[in-house]
Amino acid sequence: MCGIIGYVGHRSAPPILLEGLRRLEYRGYDSAGIAVLAGESLDTRKRKGKIDEGLSPLLDQRPIGRNCGIGHTRWATHGPPSDENSHPHLDQSGQIAVVHNGVIENYDRLKEHYVKAGHLFHSATDTEVLAHLIGDHLKRLEKVPPGIHPLAAAVSSALREVIGTYGLAVVCSAYPGVIIGARRGSPLLIGVGETENYLASDAAAVVAHTRQVVYLNDYDVATITADDFSVINLGTETAKVQVTRLEFDADAAERGPYPHFMLKEIFEQPQTVRNALRGRTDLEEATARFGGLNMSTAELRAVDRIVIGACGTSWHAGLVGEYLIEEFAHLPAEVEYASEFRYRNAPLDKHTLLLVITQSGETADTLAGLREARRRGHKALAICNVVGSTIAREADGGIYLHAGPEIGVASTKAFTSQVSVLTLFALLMGRIRMLSSPKGGQLLRALEAIPEQIARILEQNERIRQIALKYANAEDFFFIGRQYNFPVALEGCASQFFAECE
Ligand code: GLU
Repeated sequence: MCGIIGYVGHRSAPPILLEGLRRLEYRGYDSAGIAVLAGESLDTRKRKGKIDEGLSPLLDQRPIGRNCGIGHTRWATHGPPSDENSHPHLDQSGQIAVVHNGVIENYDRLKEHYVKAGHLFHSATDTEVLAHLIGDHLKRLEKVPPGIHPLAAAVSSALREVIGTYGLAVVCSAYPGVIIGARRGSPLLIGVGETENYLASDAAAVVAHTRQVVYLNDYDVATITADDFSVINLGTETAKVQVTRLEFDADAAERGPYPHFMLKEIFEQPQTVRNALRGRTDLEEATARFGGLNMSTAELRAVDRIVIGACGTSWHAGLVGEYLIEEFAHLPAEVEYASEFRYRNAPLDKHTLLLVITQSGETADTLAGLREARRRGHKALAICNVVGSTIAREADGGIYLHAGPEIGVASTKAFTSQVSVLTLFALLMGRIRMLSSPKGGQLLRALEAIPEQIARILEQNERIRQIALKYANAEDFFFIGRQYNFPVALEGCASQFFAECE
């Protein structure tokens, strides 16, 4: 699942699309491309490889213009990385271009149907089939419900035939100045500007232009023009549209003087841990306070078991959380892999609380676990970083990290912020049970000292660098730790793995 950007407005689209794609590069990708509407025609440029080696020089050689277009960075799932498999993909008529994140599970059946009907395919991707499907629905479109754009109507009816996940952007040369976006299981948002609007899979791609965004929900289909946008929902027919202000600005998504994002984020930790604790410590009552749990003390008191659902780094933070909750609140707690939890039939007692942890608030397995627990009538809280993300919206309540965007792939500041808020949460659960006031106070003082302690460790940057250099080429590394350091050792192994992949 990689990056999507769309732009419609009064400025030239290609530089904006290219810049947006560059801001999404941190997610990793194997190819990139754009499609731009130029009057009645549709121009696409796409190349395998990095933007600066493939797409950007191609655009210099063969420039395209006009002020409406879509772009994509691909991480191949269907067909190897190649120029042909790169997005955008066109429909049979060549009038419609589609970029897509995700996987169309029934693409082979659909493709078979269109091959029999004489359609020609130029790639091995599932996305190209989606483009043909949309084109076919547009051709066969008879009645368009009032107030709905014909292209949005065609995309909607095509998506009713699709099994799988998608975040997608569609343009059609018959409708200059219009972009259609749709999502299911893959994040997508509208960036709201003045006489220009954006579509993106990640706020980092648009924050340099606007901080007003609308996060789309699953099954939403959005129609975007320079002056307006509207959203319909395939399931409910009406969509909930809420404009949210991004918490971070363009600087937060820049590397600044640091050679890479991970180092920048490591150095942000004194501040991000401070942000995680800010306004949440109550020294007088020796406890923690949260504004968004949406559960009364009596409801929290009635909880007799906590299941923590998470993936990857958040799972490791969850394991620290399990130990903390057991130690301070004497409450049975266990951390589950959300990917397992969603498919297993895990028994949940009446008073079990589900606590999910996710940096992005979009982790598909964690979201599915949350929905499953809520479907069964359990309360579900979320610890997440991205304000307004799907999990933040769907949980009964929760705690934001306020750590700013985490762009480095091996998590750093999000992990320490997660552990910080989990400590506060365990303290709260302890203080409404058996944890004494002096113990609570002791814990709070220790927590408040942490940002300064991190800063002192970071002052030893040069010494740490020397140690890292000494071991950088080691073939094997053991991470050992017991109790609270066990999850930290596990996280160390995972980060090491990511660093090797980079
Ligand atoms: N399934 C599509 C492909 O293989 C999209 C992959 C992606 O999410 O980048 O091209």
